[in-house]
Amino acid sequence: MTTPEQFKTGVQKAAEIILCSRDTVVLTGAGISTPSGIPDFRSPTSGLWEKYDPFEVASLNAFRYNPDKFYNWMRPLVRDIGAAQPNPAHIGLSRLESAGYIKTIITQNFDGLHQRAGSNHVLEVHGTLRTLTCTKCYQQVDASGYTHPYIEDGIIPRCNRCEGILKPDVILFGEQLPARTWLKAQEQSKQCDTMIVAGSSLEVLPVAGLPRRAIDHGAHLIIINQSETYIDNRADVVLSHDVAQVIPWITREMLGG
Ligand SMILES: [Zn+2]
Repeated sequence: MTTPEQFKTGVQKAAEIILCSRDTVVLTGAGISTPSGIPDFRSPTSGLWEKYDPFEVASLNAFRYNPDKFYNWMRPLVRDIGAAQPNPAHIGLSRLESAGYIKTIITQNFDGLHQRAGSNHVLEVHGTLRTLTCTKCYQQVDASGYTHPYIEDGIIPRCNRCEGILKPDVILFGEQLPARTWLKAQEQSKQCDTMIVAGSSLEVLPVAGLPRRAIDHGAHLIIINQSETYIDNRADVVLSHDVAQVIPWITREMLGG
C-alpha cells in the first residue's frame, strides 16, 4: 500500500516524465471504464458470469452456433454502455491529448467513452460496438438503428440485404484482432518514448505484450492500476490506485486547473 507521500511523489514523477516526452502512448483497459459503471466482462465478479460462461457465449464459434444466446448475454452490457458517461480519467486523457502531450490511446474497451470524452486518436484493438457486420454477406452497417430495438425488445439485428445475422464488430474470444488497428498499435508502442498503462491488469494477450515492446525500445513506463501487473518491476512509476482519481491528479500537476 502506498502512503500519501509516495502517491504524491509518484504523481509528480509521472507528470515530469510525460512533460519531457515527445511521444506518449496510453494503453487503457476495463479499469478505466468501471468507474463509469461498465462491468469488466472478463472478470468473474462482473455479474455477467452468473448465468453464463463468457467463453461459451462470447466466442466466435458460440456466436455462429447460437447468436440468440450471445445476444441475450450481451444485452445488460450494451445497456450499461449506452447509459455510461466518460469519467474524470477519460476527460483527463482527452485534455492531455488536446494540450499535445498524448499522441495515441490504445484501448481494450469497446465502449467508445474515450471518443465521447473528446479524444481523437484512439485505436480500438478489441473492436467497437458502433458498427455491425453481416455474417453472410459481410456488409458493414452503423449500429445506431439497431441498438434500441435490441435493448428494449430483444430484436436480434439482421442484414437489410440478405437477412443474415449481424455481428457486433467487437472482438470475441477466439477472434483475430482487427489487423490494421493492431499493426498501428504495435508500431506506436515501438516508437513511443513513454507508455502509460491506465486501468489494465495486462492479462489479455496479445495486447498485454505492448508495454514490454515499448520498454524494450527504450520507452519510459507508467502504470496506473488497482492491482499488480506482470511488468510493475520494470516501470518507472507504479500508482496502484483508481485511475479516475490518479489521472486528474497528473493532469492538474501538468496543466493546472
Ligand atoms: Zn447480409
